[in-house]
Amino acid sequence: MSSIGEGATMATVTQAYRFALDPTETQRRALASHCGAARHAYNWGLRLVEERLEQRRAGEEIEVPWSLAELRREWNRAKQQVAPWWAENSKEAYSSGLDGLARALKNWTDSRNGRRKGRPVGFPRFKKKWRSRDACRFTTGAIKVLGDRKHIQLPRIGVLKTHESTRKLARRVEQGTARILAATISRTADRWYVSFTVEAQRHLPVTNGKTTVVGVDVGIRHLAVLSTGTKISNPRALESSQQKLRRLNRQLARREPGSKHRKETRRRLARVHARAANLRRDALNKLTTTLAIGYGTVVVEHLTVAGMVRNRRLARAVADAGLGELRRQLSYKSIWYGSRLVVADRFHPSSKTCSACGWVKAKLALAERTFTCEDCGLCMDRDVNAARNLAKLAQHVAQSGWETRNARGADRKTQLAGQVAMKREPSSADIKTGTDG
Ligand SMILES: [Zn+2]
Repeated sequence: MSSIGEGATMATVTQAYRFALDPTETQRRALASHCGAARHAYNWGLRLVEERLEQRRAGEEIEVPWSLAELRREWNRAKQQVAPWWAENSKEAYSSGLDGLARALKNWTDSRNGRRKGRPVGFPRFKKKWRSRDACRFTTGAIKVLGDRKHIQLPRIGVLKTHESTRKLARRVEQGTARILAATISRTADRWYVSFTVEAQRHLPVTNGKTTVVGVDVGIRHLAVLSTGTKISNPRALESSQQKLRRLNRQLARREPGSKHRKETRRRLARVHARAANLRRDALNKLTTTLAIGYGTVVVEHLTVAGMVRNRRLARAVADAGLGELRRQLSYKSIWYGSRLVVADRFHPSSKTCSACGWVKAKLALAERTFTCEDCGLCMDRDVNAARNLAKLAQHVAQSGWETRNARGADRKTQLAGQVAMKREPSSADIKTGTDG
């Protein structure tokens, strides 16, 4: 990281660019084969680890492979035996699976030793063909975005047509401001994607110069509601996707378990889900950029209190997904654009508290769209009231209890370091950083 004049630094950040693919039938099979190979290596490695642990428990002095290097060594020794067809796929496929296993094992150890924040992580589980996400990562070999901006190249699989233009990434690579580190292929519903992990040079302003504060509440009826009173509605395409989801969910409940119809409904549901998630992500991308550029401080709620819907699981899932995505995007955009992100404590009852006098309502049903204060008489849209409470929080940020994130000073380095590896790849609509959960 080097300084480039006052108020900004030049930094290397890791970003992800995702593109939908248009593979041929043969390529589809090759993509699926590589993902299958990754899963095979993962499961093989996990079985080996379990066996060795068992042997060790029985008193044998035996090494248990744990790191990627150790797992790879074991794999290379055994592959001719356990996967005589291994040469059909790039060796990257097996590495990718073993890498996933090594990470899962490390997360488990770290979690047990208290070195990992968040929920306890369980011991790795076997990946089932239809249950687990199909994905495979390439880190070496010919990984390219071709000059026509309509094709990409991967080791062994070759040249693949992209469904959308790769312009944004291709331009940066050509200018020399971005370098491709890896490519991950994955399948969601019936569509294949490639996500490039890229090392890019970025200007990081220390501050965007704004002192304004905005609270953002993610709802079900709206994409978001701001403390300024602005409501950002869901894009129409997303609304109709969500309607379709509700309809398909009801349909699924009526289908006989194990029937062909049920299977078909499930597949359609997965497709609509994927589409809705993409639409929401793109809509949130526009919003989070506006927020991170336009306000000095952005306050959002902790994930667990989102929605507050008890019995309507779909609505809840939708709101939670929206808030999770909003937070994820803001966490790196606040660094990019020099704003500050404040995440409200999970026990802060933002929707039940009066934003004028602080009186707390005992119970607020979801159907109640208006917040009425029994103390000071404030009468206001429920979501706007919640967003205003979030905005007010920023004034108390200095006190502990709130998780704050900003892109300033010493914090910045750790912030960036924490955003290197990626698990969930964002869409191609904008330049983004992948995060590691
Ligand atoms: Zn009041």
